[in-house]
Amino acid sequence: MRVLITGGAGFIGSHLAERLLDQGDEVFIVDNLWTGRLANIAGIQAHERLHLVVDTILNESVMNELVFKADHIYHLAAAVGVRNIMDHPVETLDINVKGTEVVLRLANRFKKKVFIASTSEIYGKHVEHDLSEDDNRVMGTVKKRRWAYACSKTLDEFLALAYFDEKKLPVVIGRLFNTVGPRQTGQYGMVLPNFVQSALLGKPITVYGDGTQTRSFTHVNDVTGAITRLMMEPAAEGEVFNIGNDHEVTINELAERVRELSASDSEIEYVSYEKAYGPGFEDMERRCPNIDKLRQCIGFEPSSDLESIIKSVINYFKE
Ligand code: UDP
Repeated sequence: MRVLITGGAGFIGSHLAERLLDQGDEVFIVDNLWTGRLANIAGIQAHERLHLVVDTILNESVMNELVFKADHIYHLAAAVGVRNIMDHPVETLDINVKGTEVVLRLANRFKKKVFIASTSEIYGKHVEHDLSEDDNRVMGTVKKRRWAYACSKTLDEFLALAYFDEKKLPVVIGRLFNTVGPRQTGQYGMVLPNFVQSALLGKPITVYGDGTQTRSFTHVNDVTGAITRLMMEPAAEGEVFNIGNDHEVTINELAERVRELSASDSEIEYVSYEKAYGPGFEDMERRCPNIDKLRQCIGFEPSSDLESIIKSVINYFKE
């Protein structure tokens, strides 16, 4: 099969490219290298079935050709990282809204099946319970820049479902929860690579807020496995799935575990959100997926627990 991965030089995209090459697919990557890096695909760049186009997904003539050639499209290109999103609000909205519009319109032109990478951010400020696909979304004020990202990805989901309902375009939507693993950089704010790098360097591990906020972390290999299986499952078409691990941990616990597993004597330092991200920031207090739908559809079970996830990131940075 010929597949197109938008954002294929990114952290998740590059792991997905490896998996699809291993499966025997011919893989086309389009990436503008905004947050994607050539280093991410260095291990596969000489592969005879890998093709790279360095360009923006907003370039419609390039995208027309790539979508035409592909059997399946994995749309992962987007603005990523809370710090990046806070620093680049215009680019965030531009790429997340217009980029997905281009991908879906061209996919529909040639009737090519599309996976849309969405995000747990779209649930917003829920605190009550594990998040299920049909839950309401709780968005903050438009004055808080973070929610622009959530709203742009929500629009992507609406558009994908509209194409499915109205144009019969086969689409699958995956809401990715905090995905971690080797090759993820801390540069755009992500917590685990930042904690591990600080711990290994003996620098303070900086916890934002009071550290009681929770997240649930999934190894990137579990995520790419779920994505590829969903794309092969006809029952997944026109559906939205949480993709994540339902083990919830506070950021304080995460900091402690990182310190312990890397045998570090780094201090844990508390930093206000305002200092970390500037004014206009609002965090999510709790974020844990309900993954029953994913379990039922493809028999998904996360294979990595928090300890093995942290160890894999420690080993990556040690290398
Ligand atoms: N965080 C932190 N220290 C850091 C980076 C992040 O305490 O160096 C916190 C952040 O405020 C959030 C959690 O860790 O509560 C997860 O942050 P990340 O940016 O990785 O993902 P997201 O907020 O999108 O879940």
